[in-house]
Amino acid sequence: MKSDKNNKGDVMNIYGHLNKVNEIFLDLISQRSNFVPLVIINKFKDSWVYIEKYIKNAHPNWTINWNHTLKSLDPNDLAFSEDMIKDTFKRVEKIVKERKVKEYFKLYISIVEGLTIFNRSYEESCDVCQGELQYYTNTISNTVLKECRTCGCLYNSKNGNKIGSRGAVSLRPATKSELLSQGIIE
Ligand SMILES: [Zn+2]
Repeated sequence: MKSDKNNKGDVMNIYGHLNKVNEIFLDLISQRSNFVPLVIINKFKDSWVYIEKYIKNAHPNWTINWNHTLKSLDPNDLAFSEDMIKDTFKRVEKIVKERKVKEYFKLYISIVEGLTIFNRSYEESCDVCQGELQYYTNTISNTVLKECRTCGCLYNSKNGNKIGSRGAVSLRPATKSELLSQGIIE
């Protein structure tokens, strides 16, 4: 993707827009100190302006959910592990080189989810498939559990015991205060 330096007021094509997204993400990883909730939420909002109209055709349900999440995202709810930051650096380095739009969208989603759903992807993984475990709160029992991003297996967040799969369980990403209260982060 070449940057759109000769833009004479023409409507930018998709690659022009994705280049804007790349610039925003490259700016994010330019400084480790950017990894604070307010800066990250702003980068998500800035980049969303450029990508929403394309990604919504490929991932309509995800787009509806993300629009809702983005509007209500409270900076106080976000917690970042070292692994999440490490993953973001890797994913941004990958996305700026990605030429296939389909793959680009998948990487965009993995960057967004990787920073909004707590995980320790280098430290732990699913016993069944080695997939990434993400921390969610069961909204009925109000307990934090881990879900495998790949196979959907659920684990107790404290002792790591397997507790089945999502089924009828209603989950939302665990907030910082929930992770703190369960002793998952300090
Ligand atoms: Zn799994």
